[in-house]
Amino acid sequence: MSRPPALTRRASLLAAAGALASAFQARAAAPARPTPSAASHPADAWPLAAPVPGGVARLPLGPAPVRPMAFAGEVPLWVDGDANGWTAIVGIALSAPVGPAQIVVRAPDGAKRTLGYTVKPKRYVEQRLTVSPRKVDLSPEDLARHERERAHQQRVMATFSEPFASAADLPMRAPVPGPRSSSFGLRRVFNGQPRAPHSGMDIAAPVGTPVVAPMPARVIDTGDYFFNGQTVWLDHGGGLLGMLCHLSAIDVTVGDPLAAGQRLGAVGATGRVTGPHLHWGVMLNRTMVDPALFLVA
Ligand SMILES: [Zn+2]
Repeated sequence: MSRPPALTRRASLLAAAGALASAFQARAAAPARPTPSAASHPADAWPLAAPVPGGVARLPLGPAPVRPMAFAGEVPLWVDGDANGWTAIVGIALSAPVGPAQIVVRAPDGAKRTLGYTVKPKRYVEQRLTVSPRKVDLSPEDLARHERERAHQQRVMATFSEPFASAADLPMRAPVPGPRSSSFGLRRVFNGQPRAPHSGMDIAAPVGTPVVAPMPARVIDTGDYFFNGQTVWLDHGGGLLGMLCHLSAIDVTVGDPLAAGQRLGAVGATGRVTGPHLHWGVMLNRTMVDPALFLVA
């Protein structure tokens, strides 16, 4: 929900801007063709498989006339595909232990089977941030507010609805243009104190830049929260959710359907931030996963 200190950030912004400029020139000079990263992933391979903490496991379930149900523990999973072949798409928590893991698949007739996979190791680096002391050492009032907000967000995060998301709507589009940090999973230390790892993608953009829906969605929550600032939660179906934070403006209300690319608000600097940017979280089975797995690089 925060971004690196200004100097580091500015340096990386300049570097990213330079990279974008040269990529644009290269594209202008060459004949138009799909980007290699998009071409190498067929539509049914989104999101990209990355069976690591903070990543996504894709588990083939085989053909079946009706969509099977699958669960991680008690939590239902996004199952994509059709009668020719279904795939369970499993979000893996940043806190997940490395090693064997499993899901439960339930056929329409009630028959259950377990399906194993392996969580592979991934090392995330540490990020040190300096923010307002009030956003780290919470007053009793702020702590009570945060606890209320957390309980509310947990209800929002439990949303699991039909129609399910469709991989045919992937890859997602970036909710704002701009340099994307690769800060997902960073182990964060605020003012010298360890806190939860960074569970989304930060995209640098000026205050007021329009924020759009990354794929078709329904608005399931809007609010102004202590850490996340002005926030919109999106339901893409089947437990695939999106969270857009630190907004300066919210243009939608709960229940609104959104097409991919439709405006929902504007970039801001509300909540626990060191400057204006969009924090974008993507959630599968109540687990924040790396949004980069849903985007063309
Ligand atoms: Zn962030």
